[in-house]
Amino acid sequence: MTTVVESRPVKAAVVRAERGAFSIEDATIAAPGGDEVLVRIVAAGMCHTDMVIRDQIYPVPLPIVLGHEGSGIVEAVGERVAGLEPGDHVVLTFDSCGFCRTCQHGVAAACRNFNPLNFAGARNDGSHALSFASGSVNDRFFGQSSFATYAIATARNAIKVRRDAPLELLGPLGCGIQTGAGTVLNALRVSAGSSFAAFGAGAVGLSAVMAARVAGATTIVAVDVVPERLSLALEIGATHVVDGRKEDVVEAIRALAGGGVDYAIESTARADVAAQAVAALGARGTCAIVGASAPGTELVCDINDVMQNGKTIRGVVEGDSVPAFFIPQLIDLHLQGRFPFDRLTRVYAFDAINEAAADSEEGRTIKPIIRMPS
Ligand code: NAD
Repeated sequence: MTTVVESRPVKAAVVRAERGAFSIEDATIAAPGGDEVLVRIVAAGMCHTDMVIRDQIYPVPLPIVLGHEGSGIVEAVGERVAGLEPGDHVVLTFDSCGFCRTCQHGVAAACRNFNPLNFAGARNDGSHALSFASGSVNDRFFGQSSFATYAIATARNAIKVRRDAPLELLGPLGCGIQTGAGTVLNALRVSAGSSFAAFGAGAVGLSAVMAARVAGATTIVAVDVVPERLSLALEIGATHVVDGRKEDVVEAIRALAGGGVDYAIESTARADVAAQAVAALGARGTCAIVGASAPGTELVCDINDVMQNGKTIRGVVEGDSVPAFFIPQLIDLHLQGRFPFDRLTRVYAFDAINEAAADSEEGRTIKPIIRMPS
């Protein structure tokens, strides 16, 4: 179905300088091209990865409109879009090409074109969806740039969701929550009766904790340095918590899990904690590295321990998920009361986006959600 729309006015939050604040500015957004969809953003989650770009830990060009956990309503679709139409509720996720070797193998999260599609700050032809009177601003972040009242996504990264779900809360399923839950359910395939540890109890780690409970793990350990996050972990699925400031983390986990855990996820992005996560594995255990460290950060571990105990260390992007299936599955689990990700969230008005960022970075809010003005 094709809908012809003219470009329209938009308010978008722009980061203009490294470590700078978000400033809400006026722009216009183009009509969607062939495989694109125009989405009125209802809300967008804020993920630590937005801060990684703001702080230039990854070299994505500034100035830029960030936001990569949008949820909203399709307003118009390009002439080559099938399966989406105006009025559909969608969650926006990472973009992928669909034709590279890994996409063809069904692992779009490892798309060979992931960086140009999600981190280039423009479409592949260098054009932008957003236009600012003040000059060129980068966009297309994660194929969306959803800290804005409207976004252009593609048919591949706009995931249709059921209409009885709370759309305002769903955006974080597109990245952080999908990453934690998908790492457990798709990548590690945590099994019933097994032991699991989450290093970092932020949005990613706590989503992993909830998913480990869904998977039937019977020892679920959350490690963090913020007591409130450890308390919440116990309420939503952890069987034990370890405060990294007070305890010998590796010894504590070995004692809790009969010598070490079967599975671990590392989401602090710290090399020292990643080393703990590998050391705390039991025989034939697997550690998933998910935290986004600065390029060049090195993991130091005891090679002999890895060899003798048959340990596996692997990286995971976006929970190895196929978003068109996995995001609706997480929504079904949520609506059944088995995946209470809303416990992690706090909603902020768009003009409080800098307060949301500060609350997130200072540990007061786990998953901010920015509500767009209607
Ligand atoms: P977050 O900041 O909410 O969570 C990180 C947690 O680590 C916090 O709770 C913090 O208190 C804890 N922590 C810090 N130091 C610690 C220590 N020494 N010991 C134990 N815990 C410690 O961030 P998040 O949104 O959960 O994201 C986590 C990471 O995952 C980020 O680096 C983010 O960029 C990355 N990420 C990766 C992917 C992917 O596809 N691989 C997707 C989303 C996010």
